[in-house]
Amino acid sequence: MTVQEGSRVSAGVTFAARLYFDNITHTFGNGSATLRGISLAAEPGEVLCLLGPSGSGKTTLLRIAAGIEAQTTGRVLLNDKEIAGPSVFLPPEQRSIGLVFQDFALFPHLTILDNVRFGLTALSREEAKREAMIALSRVGLDTYAGAYPHILSGGEQQRVALARAIAPRPAVLLMDEPFSGLDSRLKDAVRAETLDILRRSRATAIVVTHDAEEAMRMGDRIALLKDGRLKQVGRAEELYQKPADLFVAGFFSELNVFETRVQAGSAETPVGRVAAPGFADGQKVTVAVRMSGFDVGEAEGEMQARVLSRRYLGVVELLDLAVPGADTPVRARVRCGALSSQARDIFLSLRRSDVLVFETRAENA
Ligand code: ATP
Repeated sequence: MTVQEGSRVSAGVTFAARLYFDNITHTFGNGSATLRGISLAAEPGEVLCLLGPSGSGKTTLLRIAAGIEAQTTGRVLLNDKEIAGPSVFLPPEQRSIGLVFQDFALFPHLTILDNVRFGLTALSREEAKREAMIALSRVGLDTYAGAYPHILSGGEQQRVALARAIAPRPAVLLMDEPFSGLDSRLKDAVRAETLDILRRSRATAIVVTHDAEEAMRMGDRIALLKDGRLKQVGRAEELYQKPADLFVAGFFSELNVFETRVQAGSAETPVGRVAAPGFADGQKVTVAVRMSGFDVGEAEGEMQARVLSRRYLGVVELLDLAVPGADTPVRARVRCGALSSQARDIFLSLRRSDVLVFETRAENA
């Protein structure tokens, strides 16, 4: 089913708020720290994506914002007002925060309208119905108000869950892996819909995901976590183009990594010599080359390589290449058609914008 643009209403707008995590640490009973000094703000009306590998602490931070979990130290502020800290702890229902989880959790025995009305206990029955209908119109499902959840597709059920979360007009909406239960084609559509609804409702949103592309598609800014620490926060292009370290770079693109030393401002790698400005002579560096960073051809070129295997993906193909001096195959992602089907000995050239040079640290090695 498609949603008509005109069926949406523009009422039900919330006042966007700023949510600030002030030096949050958290330790569960087992003693090891899950969050280690997180200071981070979600600015009014922005979509902030919390990105990180499994176990990095994303869900814990979201649960602390919601008031489901109490942090060990630090404070949570909503518009400069402390909602959780040493002296205050507001329960979830007093925080003006909405939640959407990955499993939607709709009640199967309640109508769609009653599912959305569920959280509106402070209002009279009639007011609650009106607000619930506004929220359902906002997600384009008001015509299904009297139906039961099982008749809806997964994507539509997710939109009902979103309507339920925005119906009380929360100042901040927290979403934990909201699209992970959807198949990949539906995911794109529901993600775009959700973003549109978030923009129209003007709520500040924090979206948890472990998928870098999803974070890039959704987030005005991305906060990348690792082992309970904030690695880098910024716009997608900042994290992609100027990653703070190899971990951040590797989260956004697949890399070929070479360890080498700087000589006279550049670093020699099996795939060519690259500029290493700002590094001292003799310094150990880690050179990362994105898989997309190679141009390939069959005529004489800069560097020789032999095709070990190739995998056709439609628009691009993935190549495993043997390159003199490289201990492991170099992996390249090239446009389909760049090489003939019988290509074996080929030539590579490096695209400098896809080369990143980092100081070698124990955690990179
Ligand atoms: P995922 O993407 O897998 O959900 P995440 O980044 O959201 O991961 P969290 O769920 O916040 O990570 O978990 C962070 C760490 O805290 C993990 O090591 C996890 O085992 C631990 N943890 C989470 N909840 C609890 C709990 N209730 N008791 C003890 N340890 C917990």
